[in-house]
Amino acid sequence: MSFEKLGVIKPLLGAIKELGFEHPTSIQKRAIPLVLAKEDIFATAQTGTGKTAAFGLPLLQRLRNTTATEDRVLRGIILSPTRELSLQIFEDMQSFAKHMSLECAVLVGGKDLEAQQRTLKKGIDIIIATPGRLMEHVEKGLNLAHVEIFVIDEADRMLDMGFAKDIRKVHPLLPKRHQTLLFSATYSDKVRKLSKLVLTKPTFIEISKKNSTVDTINQVAYMVDTDKKAALLAYLIGSRNYPQVLVFTRTKASADMLVLELKKDGLKCGIIHGDKTQANRQKTLNEFKEGKIKVLVATDIASRGLDIEELPYVINYELPSVPEDYVHRVGRTGRAGRDGEAISLLDVYEKFDIKDIERVIGMKIPKETVVGFEPDPNLRRADAEEVKLKNEHKKPEIKYHKRNMKSPSSNKRAEVTKKSGTTKKVAPAKKTSAPKKSTKSK
Ligand code: AMP
Repeated sequence: MSFEKLGVIKPLLGAIKELGFEHPTSIQKRAIPLVLAKEDIFATAQTGTGKTAAFGLPLLQRLRNTTATEDRVLRGIILSPTRELSLQIFEDMQSFAKHMSLECAVLVGGKDLEAQQRTLKKGIDIIIATPGRLMEHVEKGLNLAHVEIFVIDEADRMLDMGFAKDIRKVHPLLPKRHQTLLFSATYSDKVRKLSKLVLTKPTFIEISKKNSTVDTINQVAYMVDTDKKAALLAYLIGSRNYPQVLVFTRTKASADMLVLELKKDGLKCGIIHGDKTQANRQKTLNEFKEGKIKVLVATDIASRGLDIEELPYVINYELPSVPEDYVHRVGRTGRAGRDGEAISLLDVYEKFDIKDIERVIGMKIPKETVVGFEPDPNLRRADAEEVKLKNEHKKPEIKYHKRNMKSPSSNKRAEVTKKSGTTKKVAPAKKTSAPKKSTKSK
C-alpha cells in the first residue's frame, strides 16, 4: 500500500517523500481514506504510530482550496493537551504543507496573546492550540463558525489535565456540520463519554491491542530500594554506555532532586516539568535533541508529545500515578517501528502499582535485580504500613546518602539476577566502570 493509493495528492506526496516516509503506517492506512471521505473517527493509537500524519495529511488535503490570504477564515483546529505537543504538531504540519499555500499557526500559553492575535488577523487556515489558550482567543472574538475539521489529539491526557470544560465550551461554537477526529492513546470511560458528545457516527479505529505498549519495546523492571534508585540509575547509564535516556519521575520535586543527584555523578542532565517556563522547556528539549544533554528528566505532563528520533531508552525512575501514563511514557521509545527499551525502577511500594500497569498493558513485565542493588529483604511488606502508604500514594521521605559508585562486585557490566535467583552474567560493555563522582562542577 502506498500513500498514492490512499488518495493523497501530489503536493503532500512530495513533502512526505522529503521526510523519508515511504509507506503509510497502520493508522495512516486506516485513517487517511476515512478523513478524506469526511467521516468522524475515533482512533486509539499510541504516540509513535504516525498518528500526526494520519490526521494532518488528510486535513491539509481537505482544506487545500484556499482564498487570498486576507480573506482566509479559520477552517481547521487541532487541539492538543500541551505546549510541547502543539509545537511538535505545528512543525509537522508545516513540513507536510510546505508545497501548499495553507497557513498554519500555533496558539499556546506562555506566548504573547496579542502577537498571536496579530497573526490570526493576517488570515490563518489552521490552528494548533492548547484548550486554555484557544478559549482565551475565543473570548477575545476568534470566530469558529467556519471550522470544517476539528481534531482532538491525546484526548485522554487532555481530560486528565482537566480540559473537559474547555472542550465542552468550544464544541457548541463550531458549525453544526463539521468533521471531528478524536485520537487517544488509551480508551478510558472519560474518553468514551467525550466521544459521545463530540462525534457523529464515528468509525472506530483501534491500531494495536487495547492499551498495549508498542511491540518492539523491551520492558523490564529492576527491584531496588527507594534510597538506592538514584545510584542504580547513574550506574546503569554509566556502565551500559547509554547514549541518551529519558527518565520519568512522578513529581516535580523528585525530578528536581534526581537531577541534583545525577549532576553530582557527573552526568549532563536537563529537566522538563510544569514549573519551567515554555522557553526553558523548549531550550532543554532542543539541547537533548542535539545530543548536548545525555539525560532528560521529565514529569508526565511536561513530557507529552516529545518526539525524539531514535530514542532507545526510557527509564521510569518512579512509576506513574495513573497506569495509562506508562503507555505514554514507554511510547517515547521504539518509535515508528524501531527497537527500544523501557526500564522501570521498582521499590517495595511500587510493587502494587506495577500490577495495575500490567493489567492495562495485558502482559507481565519481567522483574529482575542488579547485583549490588538488591532490595533489602527486611523491607518487604511491612503490610499494614505499606498498604496505607500505597493508598495514600505517599512515599517515605527519600534520604540520599553518599554512595559507593563503583561496580558492586567486579569491574564487569552489571550482572543481572533473575528474581528466581539464577544469575545471568551480562557480557562486559566497552566502558566497564560505573560513572565516577565528578570532582568538577559541570
Ligand atoms: P507520531 O506518532 O505522529 O508522533 O509519529 C512518530 C514518528 O514517526 C515521527 O517522527 C514521524 O515523523 C514518523 N513517521 C510518521 N509516519 C511515518 C511513515 N509513514 N514512515 C516513516 N516515519 C513516519
